[in-house]
Amino acid sequence: MEATPPAPDTARHRVPTTIIVGSGISGLSAAIVLARHGRRPLVLEAHNVPGGCMQMFQRRAPDGALCRFDTGVHYVGSLSAGQLMWRLFRYLGVEVPTRAMNRECFDRISLPGGDFCVPVGWDAVGRALARECPGEAATVATCVARMQQVEASLNWHALAPEADGAYDRSLYEISIGEYLRSVGASPRLRSLLLAQSSLYGAPSNAAPLAIHAPVVGSAVQGPHYVVGGGDAITNALLERLRDLGGELRTRAPAARVLVEGDRVIGVELQDGAVIHAPEVILAMHPRAAQGLMPPDAWRGALRERLKAAPECVGLFCVYGVAEGDLGTYAGSNHYLLRDDDPDCFYDPPLQGPADVVVNLPPTSPQLFSAMGAARMEWFERWQGTRTPRRDADYRALKQQLTDNIMSTVRQRMPGLKLQVVDAATPLTIRDYARYPGGGIYGLQPGLAAQGRNGVRRRTRYAGLYVTGAGTGAPGILGACVTGFAVAGTMLGTDALIREVRSTTDLPA
Ligand SMILES: Cc1cc2nc3c(=O)[nH]c(=O)nc-3n(C[C@H](O)[C@H](O)[C@H](O)COP(=O)(O)OP(=O)(O)OC[C@H]3O[C@@H](n4cnc5c(N)ncnc54)[C@H](O)[C@@H]3O)c2cc1C
Repeated sequence: MEATPPAPDTARHRVPTTIIVGSGISGLSAAIVLARHGRRPLVLEAHNVPGGCMQMFQRRAPDGALCRFDTGVHYVGSLSAGQLMWRLFRYLGVEVPTRAMNRECFDRISLPGGDFCVPVGWDAVGRALARECPGEAATVATCVARMQQVEASLNWHALAPEADGAYDRSLYEISIGEYLRSVGASPRLRSLLLAQSSLYGAPSNAAPLAIHAPVVGSAVQGPHYVVGGGDAITNALLERLRDLGGELRTRAPAARVLVEGDRVIGVELQDGAVIHAPEVILAMHPRAAQGLMPPDAWRGALRERLKAAPECVGLFCVYGVAEGDLGTYAGSNHYLLRDDDPDCFYDPPLQGPADVVVNLPPTSPQLFSAMGAARMEWFERWQGTRTPRRDADYRALKQQLTDNIMSTVRQRMPGLKLQVVDAATPLTIRDYARYPGGGIYGLQPGLAAQGRNGVRRRTRYAGLYVTGAGTGAPGILGACVTGFAVAGTMLGTDALIREVRSTTDLPA
């Protein structure tokens, strides 16, 4: 546990004790936790709107209706009363309106080998998989138990200070693909267990068991839509932050972290303004954080590993309006894969039907998003340009990739009447979320990037920390956990976990 920083006379001068760079869920969560513990946080956001991947955007539908689309909050797991995301929101003091998804089929997996409905809860998943893979009941039980064990071994995911899986290298050194081979899973069982890998954005031979288990596990338990989308979360967090005396400044891109000796002393903005504070947290893509810190802030070995660590496959996402009744498609996400091997998602075609995840959140008008992958190399010639000012060739490529996505959706979800409104490319994500490689979730969760030898929250400068999805797991829950975890690094991890648990326990 580190010493509390010198407390400036904040009431009179409104001097921040803690600058948090990045207003995604990790940065805002860390800010609120620290504000609850007496700090005065100032959140700096480069963009003109806060929220990072929770930000929403507006487009006109063909009929003129104004539609507000989500970027990165299509559904969120562990939101039933008493579950982890529910507890973290409760501790933060925010109420987020949610709607439960279809319990029998919150994720529909559509593979050439047949559809499979993922029900809510590990027990139900185990029963459904055992029915689907006859003769493999024992392997199914082993896999389901292992996923739960791994999740329970991660201190923040289990809210158990004594759990030490986060420090267990073996969970980060074995990929989910290798684990499934080691238990002798059949090709069908393997396909069904891997089909939701786009929740974390890494192929089976790269995703550590310690990432797959909590990310898929959190979706399986208590999946909900967020009514009002990412704005509902961002606005609730910001209101709470202000109530606690914290501040947000948008259009405030940080240019570099300032240090003196072995301490951080503040941040310089791109316009040259300097803001002093004894604590700075960089809540963003780890490579972007590295670009702001002194080069020696992380050890050489970590810098080398980060240099070699890949980005997630690029994002290509189509947004539009669904007309008429959704029928049995309502209440579920639809994973439409070309091949029985779900790793096909990471090898997107430039031409022809693509792999797609379709979300149909409850909105009015009814909106949809259809998320697929794209290679950053396809967009090489537009690297030096900014969204939305790009040429006709760029628009033609966007149209081609949109056609790839929509041909899969129209073929595999017959009966839906869909009108495309716009699409986002890896360059859109690069520009709006500041993910250097345009990857869906930024840095690919991988054997080199996470775990004991992965991206560190501490740096060699006292008071300087890094957080965000890239320091843990992607997703609203994963990134929120990293916000709590960095606050724990500053305040004392075990004590904070105990406090979160005790203040959010449901009455017996
Ligand atoms: C297309 C898409 C779909 C997704 N769908 C889901 C979903 O359905 N469910 C789910 O749980 N998760 C989903 N996610 C993932 C989830 O949204 C993210 O993992 C999570 O929001 C990341 O939060 P974060 O705090 O790590 O960072 P971010 O949200 O990336 O925020 C980082 C912030 O830092 C700012 N920043 C960077 N550099 C600077 C600087 N120099 N100065 C000032 N500010 C800076 C950025 O502008 C940004 O606002 C999705 C993501 C994407 C992209």
